[in-house]
Amino acid sequence: APLEFAVTKNLAAKSAAAREEILKNPGFGTVFTDHMVDICWSTRGGWHRPRVQPYGPISLDPAAAVLHYGQEIFEGIKAYRHADGSIHTFRPRANAERMQRSARRMALPELPTEYFLQSLRELIAVDGDWTPSGADQSLYLRPFMFAKEAFLGVRPAEKVAYYLIASPAGSYFKGGVQPVRIWLSETYARAGKGGTGAAKTGGNYASSLLPQAEAYENGCDQVVFLDPDGNVEELGGMNVVFVHRDGRIITPQSDSILEGITRDSLLQLAEDRGHTVERRPVSLQEWRDGVASGDIIEVFACGTAAVVTPIGALVTAAGEERQPTGDLALSLREELTDIQYGRATDKHGWMHQL
Ligand code: PMP
Repeated sequence: APLEFAVTKNLAAKSAAAREEILKNPGFGTVFTDHMVDICWSTRGGWHRPRVQPYGPISLDPAAAVLHYGQEIFEGIKAYRHADGSIHTFRPRANAERMQRSARRMALPELPTEYFLQSLRELIAVDGDWTPSGADQSLYLRPFMFAKEAFLGVRPAEKVAYYLIASPAGSYFKGGVQPVRIWLSETYARAGKGGTGAAKTGGNYASSLLPQAEAYENGCDQVVFLDPDGNVEELGGMNVVFVHRDGRIITPQSDSILEGITRDSLLQLAEDRGHTVERRPVSLQEWRDGVASGDIIEVFACGTAAVVTPIGALVTAAGEERQPTGDLALSLREELTDIQYGRATDKHGWMHQL
């Protein structure tokens, strides 16, 4: 049965004029809408007390397990405004299912897909006006779940909270999509075998901050991680894809990479165009050899935030290795964003109106 959300309207909600001013130039992740959704979970009561309430600080016991042991997961998904004013998300069931996989790994309860979708609808019902309509703009939706039980023993929490907040997002690239420089992390790993790399959990991102800082110090935008065997994993928040001259498209597969929904969708569109897709381990050596021989003709990164970013250079302490750039990454990007913004037929049934 669907949940019955108790709705408390924010009496101090921003005025339409103030909101419109923000939506002209929303940036990323600093401004939030007027409301948030939350659902409680306990071992005894299961999912209960679904609410829509004014956006604001959460009160937590200082002993809440998440603050000590990091039992936490999250998702990232965008809502797009179409020309007729309607609001749609992209493959939200895939995010719901990935959140369930993350939950299993982190010993958190699985939020049923229908509750996940309902939470998105409830928030859009009150805050839909926060979905911008400018080019490449969206309303970024951030579902997350954490252990709130006050208990310092190390075991799965028996009280958990699920929240959904939203933040208007501007165009990721000011002045067009530019190839990025990628720093190769040779000192730090993002994930280990049997670890939490495939889960979208805060600790993975905390551990990427220092290598990311190293990337900035070396004039790079992002960092790419390897596994202990020298296979390419992913960037801090994006998957990596290699385009070959013979039309094959190859992307790393392992149980320590986050399975990107953007990547899966781009590869489907590429298959529709007749490309062959290989999901398998890719060593750094294979990458370097492929670029040197000319077999690799494009390398790009992909994820919800930036959609597709060509990789222009791989940088190490030894120097810079320039990467070939072509047209496929940007043409797939355009095909995907045309579907997301309702400018093209949604042939795979990916869009979900809220
Ligand atoms: N890898 C990591 C580590 C990420 O954080 C993300 C962003 N969720 C991705 C890949 C890309 O996933 P998606 O395409 O679903 O956004």
